[in-house]
Amino acid sequence: IPPLGQIIAGDWKSYQYLIESIRQFPSQEEFSSVIPVWLSEFIKSKPNHVQAAGQNCYKKENGAFTGETSPQMLEDLKCQWVILGHSERRTIFKETDDEIAEKAKFVLEHTKLSVIFCIGETLEEREQNKTNDIVTRQLNALKQKIGDSKDYYDRIVVAYEPVWAIGTGKTATPEQAQEVHKFIRDHFLKTEISEKCANVTRIIYGGSVTGKNCADLAKKPDIDGFLVGGASLKQEFTEICNSWQ
Ligand code: PEP
Repeated sequence: IPPLGQIIAGDWKSYQYLIESIRQFPSQEEFSSVIPVWLSEFIKSKPNHVQAAGQNCYKKENGAFTGETSPQMLEDLKCQWVILGHSERRTIFKETDDEIAEKAKFVLEHTKLSVIFCIGETLEEREQNKTNDIVTRQLNALKQKIGDSKDYYDRIVVAYEPVWAIGTGKTATPEQAQEVHKFIRDHFLKTEISEKCANVTRIIYGGSVTGKNCADLAKKPDIDGFLVGGASLKQEFTEICNSWQ
């Protein structure tokens, strides 16, 4: 990942058969990926320009928290990133804005990991014209916990992932995505944090990105990369990785 260049993240979720992909990994240099329990195997076999991320973590270093992974464990494995607040964590595992922001705070204060901080509205919220309110609420929860320190925002990538577009085959149009990314940049990062932060923070888009729609999305000025689920498991991920070339 070039400094402040685009970021293409692949979220392999909990797909067991991916162990096969890891074995084949060295020939697929474009991959930038994220996996759960095979991280150490993945990290051993990945090329240097690819970085690894946990898909979630807990907000303690260690203790009696059965089933949880601490961010320090991810660091021990040589991960550089952790994804927090993915909509599947919010909906299936009922993680609240506050809990997600607390996790981010713990990660930023106690480790060197960077955070992909996911936000986005549901279909119902979009239809009620609440998209901007929802992303503002989710980002404000973060700001309430971590303040406006540049050191922390340097390690945050915002992932705008409209819930209605994740895994549904319904991508936001480039215009819809651009509108929300611009809103996040101008009305949150710039006003609430700083102009510099607005200029350098990457805002990546996720929600049914494919080899077919990636080039048009990439043309939008406020889209700085992608968080890709389904298509990161397929050959077309190579095309997605090349969206800005
Ligand atoms: C995701 O899981 O973050 C995601 C965007 O999935 P998909 O690309 O399959 O919509």
